[in-house]
Amino acid sequence: MKLYNTLSRAVEEFVPQEAGKVKMYTCGPTVYNFAHIGNLRTYLMEDVLEKYLRYAGYDVMRVMNITDIGHLSDDADSGEDKMLLGAKREHKTVRELAAFYTDAFFADCALLNIKRPDAVQPATGCVDDFIRVIEALMEKGYAYKAGGNVYFDTSKVAQYHKFFNFKEEDLEVGVREGVDEDENKRNKNDFVLWFTKSKFEDQALKWDSPWGVGYPGWHIECSCIAMKYLGEYVDIHCGGIDNVFPHHTNEIAQSEAYLGHTWCKHWFHVLHLNTAGGKMSKSSGGFLTMKKLIEDGYSPMEYRFFCLQSHYRNALVFSADSFENAANAYRKLKSRVLAIASEGEVQSDAFERCKKAFCEAMDADLNTSLAVTCVYDVVKAKDINGATKRALLEDFDRVLSLDLLKEEACAPSEEGMRAEEIEALIAERVAAKKAKNYAEADRIRNQLAEAGITLIDTPTGTTYKRT
Ligand code: AMP
Ligand code: ZN
Repeated sequence: MKLYNTLSRAVEEFVPQEAGKVKMYTCGPTVYNFAHIGNLRTYLMEDVLEKYLRYAGYDVMRVMNITDIGHLSDDADSGEDKMLLGAKREHKTVRELAAFYTDAFFADCALLNIKRPDAVQPATGCVDDFIRVIEALMEKGYAYKAGGNVYFDTSKVAQYHKFFNFKEEDLEVGVREGVDEDENKRNKNDFVLWFTKSKFEDQALKWDSPWGVGYPGWHIECSCIAMKYLGEYVDIHCGGIDNVFPHHTNEIAQSEAYLGHTWCKHWFHVLHLNTAGGKMSKSSGGFLTMKKLIEDGYSPMEYRFFCLQSHYRNALVFSADSFENAANAYRKLKSRVLAIASEGEVQSDAFERCKKAFCEAMDADLNTSLAVTCVYDVVKAKDINGATKRALLEDFDRVLSLDLLKEEACAPSEEGMRAEEIEALIAERVAAKKAKNYAEADRIRNQLAEAGITLIDTPTGTTYKRT
């Protein structure tokens, strides 16, 4: 498979360290608010990548962190702590806030058919690992203490800027808007590994460390969580394009300093979803969520289709018109697919021919829009029978996950459990959980799972989908 690698700035053959196995790392969300549909575009395209790697026969292990520790806007300890602000806004503790928005994030993912990574690790669960790695960096001479904080010394690595396109003058500390110079830093790109001196006196989450009571810097969690679950090498590291600098640059610097060798060879970045007014961003407010799209009468699959129609390396502009067009196209396509009768025997030649076209599209740097064209080609084909068409669409959906062949999710079905029965069991499970009878709650979840019903816990209650 050929994929663009941000490190080499070229489309190249993707070759994992160990034949047949892929170790994949994804920067997870910062859980102080709902994910906006831009964030979800990134996770959705990463989901397609993961599913295609599996489809192509790789054994994939995918890991994601959850940033549930205070997240400052920059390394100079200026800006605001988004978790703390969120907790105040919603009259919750920081931990309650994180739990609420973590559940909300995975509920959105489930609605969009985004598979949960094999391992999901909140940063607060790994502080001992961070301390161990920071201590090792101190011992090796890559980190120093200044003004109560511990900094990574970027002058100690042979090549700090590993990514393209870097313009030193753009990043002068003190020149960027809103960034104060941190006088403790020896070099302007040095970054904090551990804070004990913060301008936030009421920092909610603090831990003991060899350098005093404090909390970790912004970047260390991803390096440590990746190493904890994936070992010394990552095959492919994913994130949104804004992660390239400083987050991924700093992840590479500290990981390679710690390990003493190259850490990750392939970097996959998804470009942003923009609105006509510019980038959609979580901290600036006024962003669109999945909940809002559903309230406006759209389905999550329509948004998935909208995203798949464009290439992950192009910025995607979201407008009412462009989305409405995609939603209409999805509805039409789905009704045409559902009208295909399963006639005849699967024609293996036609099946292989169409599958080959689909794989060629996906092998060409994950060309999902061309893969969607392959779907249309199958639907329109005059020389393929219904059974073959259905088999192909089912096969492509292992990657695209557009639910084209699925009857409406919540419609009561003849063979399946009726909606009222499901609702009754959900109510029983809620009661069991309230009574702390978790065994009973799990039993009900399993009973429903056996009947093909997946429960989705959201902050506002439990919903379900038929699988
Ligand atoms: P955050 O929760 O802010 O840490 O962001 C979660 C993920 O969404 C990161 O990988 C970001 O790079 C990505 N992201 C942020 N804004 C956008 C956007 N407008 N479009 C696509 N991805 C985004
Ligand atoms: Zn990260």
